[in-house]
Amino acid sequence: MAAKIIDGEALAAEMNAQISAQAKALADGGKPVRLVAVQVGENPASKIYTNMQARSCQAVGIGYQLLNIPAETTQQELLATIRKLNEDQTVSAIILQMPLPPQIDARVVQMTISPDKDVEGMNPVNMGRLFFGGGLVSPCTPRAAVELLNRTRSDLAGLEAVVVGHSEIVGKPIAMMLLQSPNASPTVTVCHVATKDLAFHTRRADVLIVAAGVSQAKYLGWQRRRKAGETLPPPKLAPLISGDMIKSGAIVIDVAINRIPRGFDDAGNVLSNDKGKPDMMTVGDVDFEAALQVASAITPVPGGVGPVTTAMLLRNALACAGAFK
Ligand code: NAD
Repeated sequence: MAAKIIDGEALAAEMNAQISAQAKALADGGKPVRLVAVQVGENPASKIYTNMQARSCQAVGIGYQLLNIPAETTQQELLATIRKLNEDQTVSAIILQMPLPPQIDARVVQMTISPDKDVEGMNPVNMGRLFFGGGLVSPCTPRAAVELLNRTRSDLAGLEAVVVGHSEIVGKPIAMMLLQSPNASPTVTVCHVATKDLAFHTRRADVLIVAAGVSQAKYLGWQRRRKAGETLPPPKLAPLISGDMIKSGAIVIDVAINRIPRGFDDAGNVLSNDKGKPDMMTVGDVDFEAALQVASAITPVPGGVGPVTTAMLLRNALACAGAFK
């Protein structure tokens, strides 16, 4: 039987309806929610994100302001701006847009955002709270992945859960979240780039959460070397997780977002679409079609973890504004 497709859009819509009602209640009580995004310099990639944030906030009645700061801003100037926002009573939450110019140390700036206004849950205080069982605000993507899992199966006690990817913003927090229940957690294995036999681990997984972004990394590496003048065959962009790496009946949560070409011509160039632009597609790390035949449930890419991540950001903004205190 084909696996159930876990619908992230539907969950996000349900969450957004609740967020909208809570944002209205806060505004009616004289405490409107206001999220400030700090962007240093111009960046087309972050423009996509900030436009999306503005639209998402507007849709649920959360105030959104984009603070554009010149690219040549020094670390000290940026820290001073962040401290001012920390003290500003009209600002509920702060988000720092990536990437930052080379003179800025992202980690130091992230640590300067007040834990109470840290909408991404990336401040070490909020990460620490996660370790001790979770605070009001925690990282959005891990929270989205775990929420989609919990909605699919609530009782995870004794199951084998395998997380592929151990980054600070995705893989590690997911592992911590899975371990939060004192008596009913799954057994968690975390795999990463140095894992010797990935398939050995994934084939044991009743719950498989994948967040590596391997095809995207391969494609970008290939593109960089081609631009530098190397002659290279097209990269092999097969999904990291093939159907035979998935246990029958597993629940699969695919967190990855790989933006890669649909194919290459004989000369090794990216195929074009009918508008003459590179023909790109968005896929996860899992071979979705193959997984449908093996797994019991799977998140699609796009339409799975992505929309719920955005809803979690909005929910974190509410939390920063005191909605759940
Ligand atoms: P990252 O580059 O920081 O970390 C990648 C992780 O994958 C590392 O732990 C690395 O060890 C592991 N890895 C790399 N190659 C591997 C291999 N061959 N086998 C096993 N593990 C391997 O990336 P990240 O920021 O953690 O993001 C991971 C993925 O999640 C990316 O595709 C990213 O686009 C996606 N993402 C999605 C959302 C969302 O909203 N859905 C949000 C954030 C990130």
